[in-house]
Amino acid sequence: MKHWNLVAILFIIVIITGFTTCDSGNESNSIHTHSYGNWTTKTEATCTEAKVEKRICSCGEEEIQNVGEPLGHNIGNWTQKTQANCENDKLEEGVCTRENCFETISRTVAGTSLGHNYSNWTQKTPATCKNDEVEESICTRENCSEVDNRIVSGTALGHDWNGWEINTNSISKKTCSRCTLKTNGEIGDIGPEGGKIFYIDPKGFIMMDDNSTAYYLEASPVSLINEASSLPLGFHWSSGWYEGNQEFVNYIFNTSDNIGAGRSNTALILSIDENAPAALACINYGESNDWFLPSINELYQLYLNRNIFDNLITGDEEYVQYTEYWSSSQSSSVEWAAFYQGFTDNAGSGGGNAKHNLLRVRAVHAF
Ligand SMILES: [Zn+2]
Ligand SMILES: [Zn+2]
Ligand SMILES: [Zn+2]
Ligand SMILES: [Zn+2]
Repeated sequence: MKHWNLVAILFIIVIITGFTTCDSGNESNSIHTHSYGNWTTKTEATCTEAKVEKRICSCGEEEIQNVGEPLGHNIGNWTQKTQANCENDKLEEGVCTRENCFETISRTVAGTSLGHNYSNWTQKTPATCKNDEVEESICTRENCSEVDNRIVSGTALGHDWNGWEINTNSISKKTCSRCTLKTNGEIGDIGPEGGKIFYIDPKGFIMMDDNSTAYYLEASPVSLINEASSLPLGFHWSSGWYEGNQEFVNYIFNTSDNIGAGRSNTALILSIDENAPAALACINYGESNDWFLPSINELYQLYLNRNIFDNLITGDEEYVQYTEYWSSSQSSSVEWAAFYQGFTDNAGSGGGNAKHNLLRVRAVHAF
């Protein structure tokens, strides 16, 4: 029995001795500290692996470390792999020249893509009143069918206000010949009978002769020409003659100064003086027989918007009356005078003028 105890004790000693050889001293009371030799190369650097060094302890333990960076592949000659095209850069490839490395590497050559080549632009959609023309083009490079559109700026046509929709119970609209747009006319627009619009009342005004409602007044673009006169632009208001300071003319009752009165005034004048030159010239102007000599308030509106004409007071400056225009409004105070309007900038509102004077005339049309 004692013999076996001894064997056991010896066995334990052997085990403990085994633990005390080298290596970590944590679990034992070993005091071995590694003592390495110098670092030596274990493997040389390659394209993809850094150089590895090793050192060895007397106990046989080996420690390793990486030194520096991998060498990277060494491509001697780059050759084209794929051509650049419209959207992609050229691709190149090369084979690594380092020993034992047969790696093939690709690279893109930045900035070599060609961009699309649009040389022939054709119309895709034509210009409209509001929108510019749009063109399209197909890339001309081989194997590319990319399509691009572009706007040709500044080609929008703008509306062509050359027509009118004439309404009797609401304001008439100017119409665009190209699109379907209709809109109210503006001062200076060409009216339906070729005059220039110089007065607009969006609520309408009453025409005194038939109680209809009109919204616009347009005036003949030029002063009427008196073919019978030696003074080419002048008209007498009355066909009556005069002698000395006496006028043999009629008082035209019931004319009005108001806007909306010109057409009825003109008819009143001609009902009493059928050859009254200024009124008759207006009736004979245009094709509709609807033109008239404007009332003084209508004529004053023309004066206020005189800037839309450039020919109201041009002509032979020898005749001072060339800056004055007849209205169809009878002077309320004397039978031999009718109201007129001067058209110089400082003319102010007009007064009465003797009916035998030769003044200019613009025919007016209401609608
Ligand atoms: Zn060691
Ligand atoms: Zn390589
Ligand atoms: Zn292209
Ligand atoms: Zn239009």
